[in-house]
Amino acid sequence: LKIRIQPFTVHKRFPLTISRGTTTQTTNIWVRIEQDGIEGWGEASPFSGGGALQSTEMLERSLKSIIPILEPLHPLEQQKIEQQLIQAGLPSAAQAAIDIALQDWLGKQVGLPLWQLWGLDLHQIPPTSVTIGINTPEAAQQRLQAWQEVTDVRALKVKLGNPTGLAADQAMLSALLAIAPQISQWSVDANGGWSLENAIIMSNWLADRGVTYIEQPLAKGHESDLKALFTHSPLPIFVDESCFNSLDIPFLADRVHGINIKLMKCGGLTEARRMIHTAKACGLDVMFGCYSDSSLSITAACQLTSQARYVDLDSHLNLMDDPFTGAVMAQGWLRPPQQPGLGVQAIHS
Ligand SMILES: [Mg+2]
Repeated sequence: LKIRIQPFTVHKRFPLTISRGTTTQTTNIWVRIEQDGIEGWGEASPFSGGGALQSTEMLERSLKSIIPILEPLHPLEQQKIEQQLIQAGLPSAAQAAIDIALQDWLGKQVGLPLWQLWGLDLHQIPPTSVTIGINTPEAAQQRLQAWQEVTDVRALKVKLGNPTGLAADQAMLSALLAIAPQISQWSVDANGGWSLENAIIMSNWLADRGVTYIEQPLAKGHESDLKALFTHSPLPIFVDESCFNSLDIPFLADRVHGINIKLMKCGGLTEARRMIHTAKACGLDVMFGCYSDSSLSITAACQLTSQARYVDLDSHLNLMDDPFTGAVMAQGWLRPPQQPGLGVQAIHS
């Protein structure tokens, strides 16, 4: 197989601030695998969180180093390829790019969209939430109005864990609730910004206001405190930074309600499917999330969303220069294309 890699920079229409910092642009990497006249596409996007930092430079370097190792193999040799990627210690986002490209190649080779190849039912896909970052109450309201100009907002995810404290979190969420009674599903992501005590206070406060679930209330490393929160929280708890791949799931089974799967964090569609199965075997729900992914990896994740309880795949909607098209957002739902493989196309400018 032949592998080509190409970095590209995407800019956010609205910078996104979470409890750890602000992002305005990222340089992601487009990976193309070619064999027998068929091209499979994947993407690596950089991220930090949960103690991991995978920079563009690191991803590009590791992808370049793996090319000569993979070239003698065929895209159908997925098991061997995965073993090579693990043996080489490839960062998960670089691994994801290769795995997504292999799945795209396979779908194109057999002539089926991946969701169909895997027998999934698009009618069971939950609506996608869009994200409001940490800001002043007024700026958060303006951001929501801007989202409503771009798309039909059914589900809203609000970033809390403001470093200045709970009063700022409560003021921002109250301001949003006041202007958006029509939004049917509210969720909150603290990105590990709360203590156990504050997480219990906020869970009760948010439950009284109709919020559906809380994501990553406590910082990674504080998983022992999740047990007490699990007992005292009226709202379901999902973890993101505390759960990278399927190996992390069994330990979490007695202290959370669900886990957030991201392709860059876990290493691709193959591992994402393993995570779904592991989570379900442990009695946990799953949700899908993203980093600064373009439509390419968003469309990849979208192939699996019929198996999720919640979906938060919105990063591509906030890009000014997304080079790809794929999954389309309609009336609040993001659905994968009908074309074979991922069904992703490049926009030629
Ligand atoms: Mg999160």
